[in-house]
Formats: sequence, structure tokens, C-alpha cells
Amino acid sequence: MSETPEKIKCLIIGSGPAGYTAAIYAARADLQPVIYQGLQPGGQLTITTDVENYPGYPEGVKGPEMMVDFQKQAERFGADVRWGLATDVDLSERPFKVTIDEKNVVLAETLIIATGASAKWLGLESEKKYNGFGVSACATCDGFFYKGQTVAVVGGGDTACEEASYLSKLCEKVYLIHRRDELRASKAMQKRVFKAPNIEMVWNHVPKEIVGDQNVNGVILENTKTGEEKKLDVEGFFVAIGHKPNTDIFKGKLKMDENGYLITKPDSTQTEVPGVFASGDAQDHVFRQAVTAAGTGCMAAIEAERFLSDQE
Ligand code: NDP
Repeated sequence: MSETPEKIKCLIIGSGPAGYTAAIYAARADLQPVIYQGLQPGGQLTITTDVENYPGYPEGVKGPEMMVDFQKQAERFGADVRWGLATDVDLSERPFKVTIDEKNVVLAETLIIATGASAKWLGLESEKKYNGFGVSACATCDGFFYKGQTVAVVGGGDTACEEASYLSKLCEKVYLIHRRDELRASKAMQKRVFKAPNIEMVWNHVPKEIVGDQNVNGVILENTKTGEEKKLDVEGFFVAIGHKPNTDIFKGKLKMDENGYLITKPDSTQTEVPGVFASGDAQDHVFRQAVTAAGTGCMAAIEAERFLSDQE
């Protein structure tokens, strides 16, 4: 006899600011939300250091601590927070069928997608080869291993600047490699980088190859203007070139733009499938902030509640 799949009124997948905020609102509206945390419980903020721009924390807060607070707040109202990754979805009819960890199927009357985004890689063979042996996409996680050494960070956005300034406190020297001659990062972040005496900007260069023996010992760079190559001696290489939305399981099932960001109706988190809502970095390629993700998570829960009321 096959087991009857569990039926869930409001299923939330992803546990960053969008997912937990959706859970807080959905729980308070008595939708008995179930939230599957995904591969990285707490989301991207669990691999960041200080969050200084989230309202309500005048002294700033550590990303991982903030996400524990989000979870506690959702659980306080009865949100059912579970380990597990949504690995497949069938949105062809309601209730939607969502497969968790490739085996358990649950039925969802409404689905809130809050799967966020993940770090992008350059796509070099050597980057794969040395991953974990000198190559990393998370300074907070791995910076400690490079104490007193020389490292490079590639990228020109807030992430790259944040990683570089974090590493500058641990490492002897940090090269910040950027493909243009101007940073994309916010002025405040730029100031922090330019002020650090041991961060050296390497403008107009892209990494061609990461080199080493067992571990990384250098990076070959190409000048984007002249094509000339040069080698920097570094023991660590940190990639910080942006993010890719975690929306692969929705390919062919929901509308997305050419970069994989889910498309929602204007002023709404509603996707083209009624009852499926998309929030946070999986849907927002413009702002991508914790506070905006929390905002769209809130919108998704309110819209799910209205959707269910309209069905009754
Ligand atoms: P961004 O997309 O803002 O920046 C990516 C950077 O990587 C750009 O400078 C880009 O260059 C460069 N880049 C992209 N692809 C390549 C490549 N193949 N080779 C070399 N360089 C490449 O991503 P971030 O992750 O930095 O930031 C994402 C969002 O998160 C932003 O909105 C940011 O403000 C926010 N954020 C905020 C933080 C905070 O406030 N504490 C911390 C971290 C992020 P180019 O500029 O030429 O396009």
C-alpha cells in the first residue's frame, strides 16, 4: 500500500530572509507553513560577516546570528522548519507535487519559492582543480587558513570588496583583481578597500589560470586592454563575481529571464502559475538585499493567504 503524501497548506522552500519572513507571516495568518531549508540553512547571510544595513540593528549584526533570529521568530509562531532540499516540482495541477531530497513527495496548496542564489565561478579548469586547495568563494569560511599569507580576490562588487577587507585583517597582503578600472561596489565599501594599507588594486585584469602544485601558489592574469599576461604569487584565491539564482528545478515550468531569475507579475510575487509565488534573490536581480528579500517574502505570504481565501 503506498503512503498518502503529506498535504501542506503553504510550503516554503529556502531559508534565507525571504523564506523565513514568508514563514513568519504565513504562520501568523494560520497557514501552518512548512519550510524546507535547502542546501544552505539560513542562506547566503550565513557565509557573510557583519550586516550593517539591516534596519533594527544599530550596532550591526553577524549574518549567521541574524539568521538564527529569523528562524526562532518563525518557529515562535509555529512554522515547521525542516531539513531538506526540494529536488523536483510538478506545477501542472494543484495541489503542487514537490519532491524533497529526491524521494519524499509532499502536496502543496500554495508554494512560496525562496531558493535564493549561489556564488558564481569563473569557469576555469584550474579553479575546479584547486577548489578547497587554495580556491574558495567564501572568505568568512576559509580566510582563517590564509592567516599571514598573500591572497587574491577577483570581482568588483560589494561581495569582492567585503571579502577583500575581511581578508586584509587576516592576511599579509590582498590583491583585488577587477576586469575594469572602476569598482561596481557601493561608495562605502570602496572607501573601506582603498583605506586598507595591504589591499592592492589590480585594475583591468582577468584571471586566466590558477597555478600551483598540491596547493595554489599563483594566478596568471591577462590585461584586458593589452592582452599581456603576468603572474601574481598568492596562496589563496577567492572568487567573488556575483551570484546565480537557484531556480534550475523550475526550468520549463515557470517563466524566467535569460539569467534564470523567476518572473513575477508587477507589484506582486505571483508567478504565472496561480498559487506559486517567488520571492527573494530567486526573483530579484536588481536589489538583492536581505531587507528587500524579507520584503518580498512578506508579500508572498500575504498573497498566498489571499489566494487561499479566494479559493474557499
Ligand atoms: P555584483 O554582480 O554586484 O558584482 C560582480 C562583480 O564581479 C562585478 O564587478 C563584475 O564586473 C565582476 N565579474 C562578473 N563576472 C566576472 C568574470 N567572469 N570575470 C571577472 N569579473 C567578473 O555581485 P556581488 O555579489 O558583489 O553583489 C550582489 C548584490 O549583493 C549587490 O546588490 C550588492 O550590493 C549586494 N551585497 C551587499 C553587501 C553589503 O551591503 N554588505 C555585501 C555583498 C553583496 P563588472 O563590474 O565589470 O560587471
